[in-house]
Order: sequence, then structure tokens, then C-alpha cells
Amino acid sequence: MSDVITPHKPGQVWFVGAGPGDPDLLTVKGRDLIARAGAILFAGSLVNEAATRWAPAGCVIADSKDMTLEEMATWLIAQAHQHDTVIRLQTGDPSLYGALIEVVQPLDAAGIAVQVVPGVSSAMASAAAAVESLTLPEVTQTVIFTRVEGRTPMPEGESLEELARHHTTLCIFLSITLLGRVTTSLIAAGWSPDAPMLVVHKASWSDQEKIIRGTISTIQQQCRDEKVASQAMIIASPTLGARQWTTLIKSKLYDASFTHRFRRASVAMPSSPPTHSTEIL
Ligand code: SAH
Repeated sequence: MSDVITPHKPGQVWFVGAGPGDPDLLTVKGRDLIARAGAILFAGSLVNEAATRWAPAGCVIADSKDMTLEEMATWLIAQAHQHDTVIRLQTGDPSLYGALIEVVQPLDAAGIAVQVVPGVSSAMASAAAAVESLTLPEVTQTVIFTRVEGRTPMPEGESLEELARHHTTLCIFLSITLLGRVTTSLIAAGWSPDAPMLVVHKASWSDQEKIIRGTISTIQQQCRDEKVASQAMIIASPTLGARQWTTLIKSKLYDASFTHRFRRASVAMPSSPPTHSTEIL
């Protein structure tokens, strides 16, 4: 038998969205990849360690919480030279506030193939926890994912006050410690102090999730009372609380008078025809 060691053809690095916390919200694809991973680097401060529960015996598992971006890239490159499947497990979806590109660039430079598996973002998990719709016909059809300025400066034109002037749904990440700045910006943008606001702490973590409903003027004190100061999604939206509304404008898509590719109208169309586009059908 030859004792020459043939170098391992570099494996792939998969950036996998682990979802918001509940391990059942990992995608089937992400779980299957974990089940055959040779190495996993997970974001310790945020990703529920349970997400690594499907890793095979012998899998090298490391926590990135004390690593710099450079150290993370070096670790992933080294592991890719030893294993076919290497995973960077990230909270929520990797495309949102995940330093994806900063880590992909050194992998590209090292000739390591990269793929991304999307995950359930905490914005989606928070809306689900509170049974809220982020869009409603004729209320708002737009969702803005943003944050307020902390140590990361906001690009020009993206201050919360400017974005809030659109009166669309705002899902505000990374800002719970700056909640006072959030509410001040909303008021400055013309929102009523009585407008509803939602904060969801640890959405989908069955034993720790907290859903806090209030208004722009009450939410800060409520979060203080509930001791919510981290891992929280702030949602401001004209759609909040719609579950209780008695005058809901219904989606044209399911309207009995509305014909589309899969269903003919069963009743006559009302005098003003629906104006909604049907290109998604
Ligand atoms: N890529 C992630 C976001 C990472 S930034 C995603 O798609 O969700 C981290 C921020 O996400 C936190 O400050 C918080 O605002 C939000 N977040 C992450 N997990 C959360 C959870 N389980 N519940 C509520 N907010 C969460």
C-alpha cells in the first residue's frame, strides 16, 4: 500500500440559514447538509446550538463568536481542504446582516466553491409569532428591512425618519437597545404616538419567546418592564392588529368576482374592476 497522501480536492462551503431559533425552522436542505458535514462553524451568540444536533459523529464543530472575519475565513478554507462539505451556520437568512460577502470574498480568492441555503428570517418568524400580515391590500404593499444607526453608519437617504415617511411596514433589526431613537424617528416622520408597534423577543424559541404589543408612546416602557434588551425584532406597520379589524379590504385574488388563470369568477364583477396586477399568478 502506498503511503503517499493525496491532497483532498477542496470541498464546498455552504452558508446555511439556521432560521430564527426553533431547530424545526431549519430547511430540509440545510438539515441534510448538516447531516453530511465534515465541519460546521456556527454563530454561537445567536444560533441555537440545537441546529447542530444533526451533525454526524466526528464532525468538527466550532463557535465563531470569538473569531474575527479573517479568522473565520481562514478556518473555513482550512476545513474545506479536508472535508467535502463545510458549513457556515448563520442565524435567520444569510443575506440579512450576516457579513456574508465579507467571508465569501476570501473564499473566492482561495478558489473555494461557495453556495448559500436561505433561512427563515427573524422578521418572518416575528410576524408569524404574532399572527400579523406585513402587507395588506390598500394598506401597505411594501416591507422595509432596516436598522437604526448604531456603530454601523446608515447610508445617505436611509435614516429611519426618511424611510418611515413612506408609512409602509418597517422590520427593524439590531435596534432594540436604541428603541427610543426608533420611536422618535417614527414620530418625526409623522406617525401617530398611538400607532401600534410590535416587539418580538426570541421569536420561535418556544421557552423564551415574548410578544410585546404596544404603541409608539408605550412600547419603550413595556420593553423595559419585560426586560427585553436583545435579540428582538421591532415592527412598525399600519397593518398591525388587523386580525381585530371589522373593515378589512380583502385581497382581490380570492374575491368571488375576480377571474384569474386558475379560477373563473363565480359572481359578477363589482362596478369598479380590480386594479391589482395578476402577474404573480
Ligand atoms: N440574518 C438574521 C439577522 C441577523 S442580525 C435574520 O435573517 O433574522 C441579528 C438581529 O436579528 C437581532 O438584533 C434581532 O433584531 C434579529 N433577530 C435574530 N433572531 C431573532 C429572533 N429569534 N427573534 C427576534 N429577533 C431576532
